[in-house]
Amino acid sequence: MKVLVINAGSSSLKYQLLNMENEAVMASGIVERIGDKLGVLTHKKMNGTGEEKTVIEQAIPDHKVGMHLVIDLITHKEKGVISDKSEINAIGHRVVQGGESFNTSILIDASVKKAIKDNNPLAPLHNPANLMGIDVAEELFPGTPNVAVFDTEFHQTMPAKAFLYALPYEYYTDLRIRRYGFHGTSHKYVAKRAANLLGKNPEDVNIITVHLGNGCSMAAVKKGKCVDTSMGMTPLAGVMMGTRSGDFDPAIISYLVEHKGVKVEDLDDVFNKKSGLKGICGMNDMRDIHSKAEQGDEMAKLAVDMFVYRVKKYIGSYAAVLGTLDMVVFTAGIGENDDIVRKGVCEDMTSLGIDIDTEKNKGRFSKPQPIHKEGSKVQVWIVPTNEELQIAQDTVNTLK
Ligand code: AMP
Repeated sequence: MKVLVINAGSSSLKYQLLNMENEAVMASGIVERIGDKLGVLTHKKMNGTGEEKTVIEQAIPDHKVGMHLVIDLITHKEKGVISDKSEINAIGHRVVQGGESFNTSILIDASVKKAIKDNNPLAPLHNPANLMGIDVAEELFPGTPNVAVFDTEFHQTMPAKAFLYALPYEYYTDLRIRRYGFHGTSHKYVAKRAANLLGKNPEDVNIITVHLGNGCSMAAVKKGKCVDTSMGMTPLAGVMMGTRSGDFDPAIISYLVEHKGVKVEDLDDVFNKKSGLKGICGMNDMRDIHSKAEQGDEMAKLAVDMFVYRVKKYIGSYAAVLGTLDMVVFTAGIGENDDIVRKGVCEDMTSLGIDIDTEKNKGRFSKPQPIHKEGSKVQVWIVPTNEELQIAQDTVNTLK
């Protein structure tokens, strides 16, 4: 079975074609700057030993034109991997916000599209773009089933005490204000994979999953089910991120409006794009920050310390939530590659049973790797995430 995974943004469209017989990626790529004067499509064909890259630069006025270009490439005589688009058996769509309407992936029909649209106010930048991707796929692949896989679905198992905010209850009932959580396909993928690596079923282990990339989030996964997660109604909450603040005192908002004259409509921008690591040291890529810190830049050092401290605090609180903790799993760009952050997060945690081996921890990992000391009560692993594969697996399972 061949599954095309689509992740449509407002001006971009990421795709990956997978052969689900062996879960191998056949081709992948991204269409960027859709709607700009000059768009760009970067396509990669996998060929056993490596990848062959093709870059096309031309005006790409909309997602439909972008998808047409993708189809041309994946079916191209030399650059392609299939001879006709009808060889694609199903399409899996990443949809960011499923709200409370979806606790599992679902075959898309008109009522599903309506329910996704109803959730647009909760994710105004993402859901409309995701819907656009669905419309284009329906038009260009008539008869091929489309499945929606939601970023939020894995977190729908959270109990009310974890997902409710201590705000007037009618904000929840009338406005749907609650914690939803994001990065769900990543947390689901690494939690399941981590349990398998221990030779156990997900139902037999308690895991804290730590997704540290451009966006950062954590989840407490009890016996295979998410019981709490750090992102909230939007992906702004939780730990500190590249440019996002994470948690802070909400009273700061009115204070800023009153005392600094910040306009309410500009606040989103401040908290999402000018905060986090960037807000503290002016940079948001952890590699740049480490190299500045090595040169003695105090603000870069402070940014790393703050980042590490916040992840550590969440580990402590999720260990308390889970009762017993079997594993801590690091994933995504920083989680997989940054030994300084992992060491900082895990040091002095033996009281929680977490004891990492600083030698094993050294380096970057593209394959699962344990980094705890022998005898550590809690196992600490790096498990590279694979959201596209999770979406493809969920697509296949939904169609079963
Ligand atoms: P992601 O969103 O998972 O692609 O992660 C992207 C982020 O990972 C980048 O912004 C970097 O901050 C971080 N990153 C990637 N490679 C490294 C590395 N070798 N060391 C530290 N951080 C890294």
